[in-house]
Amino acid sequence: MEGFRFPGLPTRVVLGHGTLAEVPREMETLGRSRAVVLSTPGQRGQAEALAGLLGERAVGVIAEAVMHTPVAVTEAAVARVRALDADCVIAVGGGSTTGLGKAIALRTDLDQIVVPTTYAGSEMTPILGETRDGAEPGQKVKTTQKSQKILPEVVVYDIDLTLGLPLSLTATSGLNAVAHAVEALYAQDRNPIVSLMAEEAIRALARALPAIAAAPQDRTARADALYGAWLAGACLGTVGMALHHKLCHVLGGSFDLPHAATHAVVLPHAAAYNAPAAPEAMARVARALGAADGPQGLHDLAASLGVPTALKTIGMPEAGLDRAAEAAVANSYWNPRPLEPGAIRRLLDNAFHGRRPD
Ligand code: NAD
Repeated sequence: MEGFRFPGLPTRVVLGHGTLAEVPREMETLGRSRAVVLSTPGQRGQAEALAGLLGERAVGVIAEAVMHTPVAVTEAAVARVRALDADCVIAVGGGSTTGLGKAIALRTDLDQIVVPTTYAGSEMTPILGETRDGAEPGQKVKTTQKSQKILPEVVVYDIDLTLGLPLSLTATSGLNAVAHAVEALYAQDRNPIVSLMAEEAIRALARALPAIAAAPQDRTARADALYGAWLAGACLGTVGMALHHKLCHVLGGSFDLPHAATHAVVLPHAAAYNAPAAPEAMARVARALGAADGPQGLHDLAASLGVPTALKTIGMPEAGLDRAAEAAVANSYWNPRPLEPGAIRRLLDNAFHGRRPD
C-alpha cells in the first residue's frame, strides 16, 4: 500500500425492517416541516402512503420521476416545489426518483431524505446524471456532475419495501450494485476501507441474489441485498469509476437502454477487459463470488439469475455499436487498462451478442 485519502461518508443511514415509520423523526432531526414526496408514476401509491404517514408535514406528491433524469421533468418539478413552499424533498423509489430529488436539491439546496426501493446506490453519491435533447431529432445527451449539494442528507433503507421488487429488476439492479463494487476495487483513488466495503458488497449480493431468485420474500436475503447495495453505493460515492460505468453511461444515455439491465449485460465484459491490468482486484472479486475467476464468475452469476446477457435483447441497435465505441474513448479518463478502440469495439460486440467474455 502506498498511502491513501479517505474522504468520509457524511450521509446519515438508517437500515432495518419497517424503518419507513422513522421518516417523520428524521425530518424533525433535520428541522424540516414541509416535505414534497417524489416517486415514479408506478410508485405513486407508495409516495401517497408516505405522505399520509407524514400528515401535515407533507405538502405535496410529485409522481413524475422517469429514468435518466430529463431536465424538462426536473424544471417542472422545481416550479411545483417552489409553489408549495417545501423545505425538503423525500424520494421513495429507485435511482430515477433519487435522481429527480438530487436534481431538485441541486437547484434549490433543499435537504433530501431518500427511501431507496432498488439496489442502484444513487442515494449514497454526490453524482447526478441528467439528459437533454441533442442536436439531432430523437438524440439524447447525458451529462454528469458532482456536487455536495447533490448528496442526500439522510437515507432510510426499509427492507420491507424491497420485498415486492420484481425479480427481474432485483437481479439487474443487484448486478448494477455489484458493478459499483467491482470498479471500486480497481479505482485509481481506491483506499483500504472502500476496498473492504466493495468486497463485502459483492459477497453479500452474490449470496443474496440467488436466494431471492429462489424465494423472493426471503427477509434475510432481502436484508443482505440491501446491505450490499448500501455498501456498493457508498463505494460509488467515494471513489472514481472507470470503463464499465463509462460504457453504461454512453449506452444508457445515447440509446435509452434500461439502466440496471445495461449494467448487468456489460459488467462481465468490462471486468474481462480490465482483468489483465487489475489482477489484485479481480482476485478479490473472485474470492467474494466464491469463483475461480472474477469476470467468468460475474458472467455465471448473471446467467444463473436469468437476466438478459445480450445488449441486442434490451433494445441496443447493432448500427449504434460503432458510435458507442467511439463515445467510450472520446474523452480520456482513468482506467486500469489503456483504452484501446479495437478491443473496446470487440467488447461491445461480445456484449451485443451475449457471448461469454473473453
Ligand atoms: P428506476 O428507479 O428507474 O426503477 C425502475 C422501475 O421500477 C421504476 O418504474 C420504479 O418505479 C420501479 N420500482 C422501483 N422500486 C420498486 C419496488 N420496490 N417495487 C416495484 N417497483 C419498483 O431504476 P434504477 O435502476 O433504480 O435507477 C436507474 C436510474 O438511476 C438511472 O437514471 C441511473 O442513471 C440512475 N443512477 C444514478 C446513480 C448516481 O449515482 N447518480 C447511481 C445509480 C443509478
